[in-house]
Amino acid sequence: MKTSKLIDRLQVPAGRKLSLKKDFATDWAGAKPGKAEAGRRLREGVEKLARLQDKLYAQDRWSVLAIFQAMDAAGKDGTIKHVMSGLNPQGCDVHSFKVPSSEELDHDYLWRCMKALPERGRIGIFNRSYYEEVLVVKVHPEILDHQKLPDRFRGKKLFDDRYEQIRNFEKYLWQNGTLVLKFFLHVGKAEQKKRFLERIDTPEKNWKFSASDAKERAHWGEYMSAYEKCLRETSTRWAPWYVIPADDKAFMRVAVADILVHHLEALDLRYPKVDEAQKKQLAEARALLEGE
Ligand code: ATP
Ligand code: MG
Repeated sequence: MKTSKLIDRLQVPAGRKLSLKKDFATDWAGAKPGKAEAGRRLREGVEKLARLQDKLYAQDRWSVLAIFQAMDAAGKDGTIKHVMSGLNPQGCDVHSFKVPSSEELDHDYLWRCMKALPERGRIGIFNRSYYEEVLVVKVHPEILDHQKLPDRFRGKKLFDDRYEQIRNFEKYLWQNGTLVLKFFLHVGKAEQKKRFLERIDTPEKNWKFSASDAKERAHWGEYMSAYEKCLRETSTRWAPWYVIPADDKAFMRVAVADILVHHLEALDLRYPKVDEAQKKQLAEARALLEGE
């Protein structure tokens, strides 16, 4: 399970038609690391990420935005927790986007996400994102009634317009120093059912389950079509989507960590160079300390 193979197999090619069913399995078909091996590999990935984060922070040029989208119980929370576990919390922010508040609905849909974008040198994680606007809103178009859009923009082209807005937004981010990486954690319908039942049967997990989650399952097919269209329309060279098989949590975490490391390594991060004047200052400070 080489990283190059993961990238090849899991990245959504820009602008090409795809079928989630045919092209992207919910379980990795090739050889997979065993549990112990996956744990070791995840630790390795997390350590690499931590070293890259240190440079990212010191260099203060790039920011990284990792977006997670998924059906319920696919493992967004766990993946975020495990993959980010070794990072310096000072350089990392996680934002979860829920049903928009009335204040948020008084603005365009990108507003709340723009406010949460990572500063230079930092890693930002979006647990759900503006992508909900072409996913849940597409499956339940009545949500649009609350969005206070002028009528003239509520026509048939609305979702096509949104894909375009998102592509443009992400290109703008990239050209201004934000690396955007998007992960769709692709869980199977049967596996989701298993996890829901587990949440119902385990008292410590009851809080994770809400009756509406089970109802949303009835729209599974519509969600998959919305994801398919969204992935196809918004996977770009500058902000690619990855479809991560999510039936095996250990595999999913390793894959996400490896892909993040791969892209951060390609940013060519380095510690800032110390110029002659700074070198002189350092030497003076050393002399001062040694002379105490
Ligand atoms: P968990 O997986 O732990 O349940 P969650 O991310 O599903 O976490 P919830 O409290 O269930 O968190 O809230 C998320 C809900 O908000 C989802 O059903 C999602 O579709 C919805 N949501 C997010 N953004 C929007 C949006 N822009 N418009 C409408 N609904 C949205
Ligand atoms: Mg939920």
